[in-house]
Amino acid sequence: MFNPNSQQSTLNQVDQKAEQYMGNPQELEQKYKQNQQLIDLLALQKIKSQKEAAAREMALKMAQQTGKPQTIEQQREQQEMTAKANRLTPKGCCYYCEERFPEGDKKLFCDRDCATDYEEEQRLKNRR
Ligand SMILES: [Zn+2]
Repeated sequence: MFNPNSQQSTLNQVDQKAEQYMGNPQELEQKYKQNQQLIDLLALQKIKSQKEAAAREMALKMAQQTGKPQTIEQQREQQEMTAKANRLTPKGCCYYCEERFPEGDKKLFCDRDCATDYEEEQRLKNRR
């Protein structure tokens, strides 16, 4: 005779525990060390394997993303832009359209549009 309280409910308890301690498996590990409950151990293993699967998926996604040549190119350009932007010092007016800023204003550009246009201009210059 099938006992509904045996295997099925054990699996449910493992699932529940794994879910409960997903964010804090160390606590569950402590609990298992104290009580030596098989369910705790199973839940721990479940959390571990889920975390590993998630990490594998993440690594795979990263590899796929950075594996695209144009993305590397974009990243390199982005870094160059940022490096250049960081070397600029406030000169009291917009680097792109030369609009004057109020005294003491430490801005480099009037707004994001000017910054983007300036970066684009610099990029084109450097290409030549
Ligand atoms: Zn401007």
